[in-house]
Amino acid sequence: MSQANSNPPKPDDLIVVGGAGGFIGGSLVRYFRERGFQRIRAIDKKPLPDWYQRTPGVESLCLDLSNEQNCKVACQEATEVYNLAADMGGMGFIERFRIECLRSILINTHMIEAAYRAGAERYFYSSSACVYNTDLQKDANIRALKESDAYPAMAERGYGWEKLVSEMFCQEYWHERGMRTAIARFHNVYGPDGTWDGGREKAPAAICRKVIEAKDQGLDTIEIWGDGTQTRSFMYIDDCTLGIDKIVHCDELIATPINLGSSELVSINHLVDLTEEIGGVKLKRDYILDAPRGVAGRNSDNTMIQEVLGWEPNTPLRDGLATTYAWIEQQYNDRKAGKRTVS
Ligand code: NAD
Repeated sequence: MSQANSNPPKPDDLIVVGGAGGFIGGSLVRYFRERGFQRIRAIDKKPLPDWYQRTPGVESLCLDLSNEQNCKVACQEATEVYNLAADMGGMGFIERFRIECLRSILINTHMIEAAYRAGAERYFYSSSACVYNTDLQKDANIRALKESDAYPAMAERGYGWEKLVSEMFCQEYWHERGMRTAIARFHNVYGPDGTWDGGREKAPAAICRKVIEAKDQGLDTIEIWGDGTQTRSFMYIDDCTLGIDKIVHCDELIATPINLGSSELVSINHLVDLTEEIGGVKLKRDYILDAPRGVAGRNSDNTMIQEVLGWEPNTPLRDGLATTYAWIEQQYNDRKAGKRTVS
């Protein structure tokens, strides 16, 4: 466990992770296991064979956490509950399926109540930079978003509003009922063991796959959503899991939404440059101007996390992307060879 713990969990305390069949939840389960936690319950609505990762020695359950009764089962005897379950994906998904995104409200609503009733000591909610006021993100050269920029609220339609209301639940469970809650606003997480194909993947994985595909199929062009000038920051998965641990176990951050993201701002064009460099190829770019592109610019202001934790996500994009590229290339080749892959 990281520093700033006033009441750290013991190795035999029960840790529950919702959404553990997905990218971040699965990585978090592995993170806790590697740190010696003996009792971890991992839950996802996906059938077990479809989970991105399964960590040995972990109780893994297939349950739909939008159901109240299932949340009670999930949280029984839990000391800490981490909710990473949500119906989500990259821009292509969240712009198209707003109702599905909004329905994730059921998951957090039932999970937090079940955690409270089970007497859990800490509850974590995975929020998103999509809560931020979209009016502040209309330019590629935006200033980084600080935590207070969520209000006055004008969140991303669907997905962002669900996150904002779920954050509010977490704040009130602390203020009204005294359960310690923690809320991190993730900014674009990437890395191995995440979605890389199928429509829910995010920009880094999609671009790695397209470069790998182009090389494999001898194509000389890559399709880019938007005009390539949109800017973002991307956080490597290991920074995300470490950051969650630090945030949850810092009493100064109880019920306080905080950015968890990299502050290394890049344009999508630069992301493509880096990926091409890693793949050792140069491709022509076909800009699809009517494809979903999200806000024009978004970056994480890390003043608060630096002040409180003396730390911020710091894996250079070039390094994290090289690891991710290698993993996706392996997945791509495995799929071609008829082997099982994650997406
Ligand atoms: P993911 O899609 O890989 O994982 C989410 C998991 O939740 C999936 O395995 C899915 O099956 C599961 N799930 C969905 N509905 C469920 C239900 N009703 N019951 C049980 N399980 C259910 O996504 P991820 O990238 O790992 O994201 C985890 C969390 O982080 C989500 O809350 C997401 O909104 C948030 N987040 C992610 C990013 C990112 O860049 N990946 C950015 C901001 C916020």
